[in-house]
Amino acid sequence: MRIGILALQGAVREHLKLVEACGHEALPIKRVDELEQIDGLILPGGESTAMRRLMDRYGFTEALRASDLPMFGTCAGLILLAENVVGLEEGHLGKLNITVERNSFGRQIDSFEAELDVEGIDEKATAIFIRAPHIVSADTGAEVLSWVDDKIVAVRSDRHLGISFHPELTDSTVFHQFFIDMVQKYAEAGFSVGT
Ligand code: GLN
Repeated sequence: MRIGILALQGAVREHLKLVEACGHEALPIKRVDELEQIDGLILPGGESTAMRRLMDRYGFTEALRASDLPMFGTCAGLILLAENVVGLEEGHLGKLNITVERNSFGRQIDSFEAELDVEGIDEKATAIFIRAPHIVSADTGAEVLSWVDDKIVAVRSDRHLGISFHPELTDSTVFHQFFIDMVQKYAEAGFSVGT
């Protein structure tokens, strides 16, 4: 599989490394036409407002809204994939039928680490949260995969995956492998992959 990482802002290099560690090809994506070369796209963490501005400037907002590519959003990337964002009139890409709230875990715990149980992953997963969003509600088509206390922090749909935290800041490939398996299933099912 060829997995792209949206390379406008944020933690790109770490994602490239983990995709390669899974034995797949990883490509930084800087231009819309490069979306044709990949089977799935990772939207990294960073700052969602800044990323949205850059996505508008380089034509990604429109292209990704229209795209069938499976997408995996981490932290700010999760915010970009949500149908609704608390405080915004309209979500950014509307890929996951969820409502997210930004910076949900309070100032005094700007960042923290947790060992999570995740539906579909056998081992405990180390999750690093940095000014992280959480998922307020997961609606039709969005399956909840993990919680921290009473807050949802991971969901998937048929082909999109969204998590509140940063798997790329650990050495573990479990989430990248999980996404690549989703991409592979989607490709095998014969859906049009590409743009
Ligand atoms: N707080 C950031 C936002 O709202 C997300 C933080 C992150 O990606 N680490 O976009």
